Amino acid sequence: MHRIGIALTAGLLCIALPNTSRAGFPTERFTSYADIQIKSPAVQCTLWIDAAGIETLQQLDRDGDFEYSSDEMNAARYFITLYLQRNFLVMWDQAIRPHKIGAMDVARRAGSDRTYFRVEFRVTDLPPGQSVSIASRILSELTPEARTYAKIRFENREELYGLGPTRYFSTDRAERPLPPDSTFRPESQHGRIASVGDWSVEMLYALPERAFYLYTLTNDPHTPMGVGDGSIEVSIQPGKEGPYRPVRLAAKPLPGDKPGMTSRFTLVDPQFAAFTTFNADIRIGRGAAMKRVIFEFPAVTIPERSPGGAKTTRRGCANLCPGVDLNSPPSDKCPRCNGRLLPLNGDTAPGLHMVGAHGGMLLGYGGAGERFEGLITTDSEFRLYITNEMLETLPLKKLTGSMLFAADERFQDSAVEIQARKGPDGRYLFATLPPTASLPLHVRWLFDFNDGEGASQVDFLIEEAVQVPTPASQPSTSQPVAASQPASKPAN
Ligand SMILES: [Zn+2]
Repeated sequence: MHRIGIALTAGLLCIALPNTSRAGFPTERFTSYADIQIKSPAVQCTLWIDAAGIETLQQLDRDGDFEYSSDEMNAARYFITLYLQRNFLVMWDQAIRPHKIGAMDVARRAGSDRTYFRVEFRVTDLPPGQSVSIASRILSELTPEARTYAKIRFENREELYGLGPTRYFSTDRAERPLPPDSTFRPESQHGRIASVGDWSVEMLYALPERAFYLYTLTNDPHTPMGVGDGSIEVSIQPGKEGPYRPVRLAAKPLPGDKPGMTSRFTLVDPQFAAFTTFNADIRIGRGAAMKRVIFEFPAVTIPERSPGGAKTTRRGCANLCPGVDLNSPPSDKCPRCNGRLLPLNGDTAPGLHMVGAHGGMLLGYGGAGERFEGLITTDSEFRLYITNEMLETLPLKKLTGSMLFAADERFQDSAVEIQARKGPDGRYLFATLPPTASLPLHVRWLFDFNDGEGASQVDFLIEEAVQVPTPASQPSTSQPVAASQPASKPAN
């Protein structure tokens, strides 16, 4: 197994194609994978978190080769243990339950060259019959597109769930109210958020508790950020008219808050129960660091969300294949790996509409629901398939065209055009890459369906090669890529 090697040698930047690989999709480094079993007396989980994603948050691998020494693994273990306490939440009976972290190592996933931290943990003392909620915002501080794609076994069922910054899983399918001490904040906690420099403040008056809540957050409005004060005085103008009245909210730290730093303050005060809206005048901190903000906030009842569609017709792959998120598929097999399909709820599967059945990149071209799938094989071919929304490969019919290869998106620097030929099985068109080509590679597909509609074009940017299995009836005549790929280009 080879990673993409990058070496700077005598002024040449050499990028070797990996031996076994898949095409990537833009949010891949922000995608985590989970295998979860919920069965009293414990919730057991194996989690894969992209090492490049974690390194963006905290540099752990000092030389950047994704090889971890025992010192680096110890640092990773410390960082990830704390990180999961805040960002991967297992909850029941209105409380967040502590993880017991077990084995942690660096691993690959089948069909991927990426490096992941593989973390095993247990959450114990789960009573029989207890409903469980699970939320993940792993890597969502880097992008709201971050997802944790989970296979979950519970009550003799199996399902897939796309966990994300606004979607979380519950065994009874109802999206239950989150514990008040949850650091997971889907669509915020329904108060009003105001930003003050690097900070945000959320304020609400919760009913029927009749309590003010104030949260101090970073400016991403999702991440709690503690302050050192034991209480915060807020001037309140109930109904937004008349005099302001001072109220003092006491620190009530969230479980993830550091000692002495609090990100939640609250005050039970029934005298405001008749009001639906308020103005707040808030000062946080002291001296030059003091922030002041005045804004309106509401009285809210945090609703219990409906299950949102009791029966799903969406299906994903039991092996968590990216791109497989099919609505009422005709078969019960994964079009990528031939694995089982399972019901899929929550956010979309990672890579949906981006990754095709062969691991290539999908681009629409105007056909109803049809897309081109373009990929570069490890045998240095650019291949093009036609695929539908179920990721089935469609007949090529009279499709013809040529492929233009270039290192730049304007197709100016030493672009090479090659006529496409039909592959041996008749299911794809291909051209062998010019010997000067290296990844990432821009490919312009100039095509004509020969149906009277005329010629058109789409542009691919291919960053990774894909290992496409050679059909048993077609003996491979290609050389191994490592020996045959003269992929190099001058450095700037
Ligand atoms: Zn699959």
